[in-house]
Amino acid sequence: MREVLQVRFGEIHLKGLNRPYFMRMLVERIKAAVKEINGHVWLSDSRVYVSDMTDMEECIRRVTKVFGVHSVCRAIEMDKSDFTAICAQAAELLKDYRGTFKVDARRSDKRYPMDSPTINIEMGGYLLDHLPELTVDVHHPALTLSVEIRDMAYLYTHPIMAVGGMPVGTNGRATLLLSGGIDSPVAGWMIAKRGVTVSAVHFYSFPYTSERAREKVLDLARILSESLCGIRVHVVPFTDIQMQIHEKCHEDYTTIIMRRYMMRIANAIAKKEKSNGLITGESIGQVASQTMQALACTDAVVDMPVYRPLIGFDKQEIIEIAQKIGTMETSSLPYEDCCTVFTPRHPATRPKMEIILDGESKLDSEALIQAALDGTEVFDL
Ligand code: ATP
Ligand code: MG
Repeated sequence: MREVLQVRFGEIHLKGLNRPYFMRMLVERIKAAVKEINGHVWLSDSRVYVSDMTDMEECIRRVTKVFGVHSVCRAIEMDKSDFTAICAQAAELLKDYRGTFKVDARRSDKRYPMDSPTINIEMGGYLLDHLPELTVDVHHPALTLSVEIRDMAYLYTHPIMAVGGMPVGTNGRATLLLSGGIDSPVAGWMIAKRGVTVSAVHFYSFPYTSERAREKVLDLARILSESLCGIRVHVVPFTDIQMQIHEKCHEDYTTIIMRRYMMRIANAIAKKEKSNGLITGESIGQVASQTMQALACTDAVVDMPVYRPLIGFDKQEIIEIAQKIGTMETSSLPYEDCCTVFTPRHPATRPKMEIILDGESKLDSEALIQAALDGTEVFDL
């Protein structure tokens, strides 16, 4: 007899013929997550198990963050041949419990001499005999004792909810425009949760933005990297482009034009790394450059889909996710972003394409973009 972690997966159930592939990926992701605590991971009878970990609590913390995991249970694994021994172990598990309960048996081994309803009745009776403080309530029990008869017998009480989603690596790749703010790390996390491998592009304008602001973005990427199974960050020098925009374009249009250059460069990097789309942390109307008209102007310079998972979210909703995923504290540190350094007094909320194009025609776009790409540094975190 020993304690193991039983892992359930969510949407992978929906995958018909591809299911073995998704399962294999999930097992790989769980293995990577528990490697440092020596967890042994195996797949049996369409459940994943982890055993032999040096620290169960840490194992739960890690596994519940793996995209694709629906929930986990600390389970007692034991030989199934002696039913009375399983009942005795169940009584041990509930010995300090007072209140209503029910037994919920599942039997995947159809040769087992008792069927599920019989196990429920027999084990329920045993527990009532041995633990007089318990009462049965089959409709609304305060506690459900689950018994699974598989290759082995498993007993557990409280499933712990996990993050859900799909295993990273099963749904293509996307390139995140990552600033040091609250929104973009959340946006990247949300897309990765759908099984997408995410890499990031950050634009910095040294010396207008400091070395610390850049480090902060790398720190955010490091926090994300645990859930995202590693992340590549491209750090792009953006000062020259910004200075040129600032000098040559209509002041009210500097932000929108700057955003278009960011998108062009991210698009080029994304193509090089065979991404299927871009990700931003934008939400409608949050700032002037995020009106629907402005978003249409930024979309116009790219030739791949732009995913904006926060498009309908309020700031408070985004903050709640940032807190949950552990990026909020770092995102809240004071910093300058290249967007905030040259903010116009009256940014155009309904930008006119003629004015944008007129401004951009004064810049040697091709050379500026090439120089930014040439100066890009890459970090694998
Ligand atoms: P965030 O809270 O993520 O910083 P924001 O509130 O600062 O976003 P904007 O500055 O308008 O909003 O930026 C909108 C989106 O543009 C960000 O969510 C991000 O995807 C991208 N972005 C902004 N600044 C940068 C940057 N310096 N490098 C890369 N992407 C950026
Ligand atoms: Mg924002």
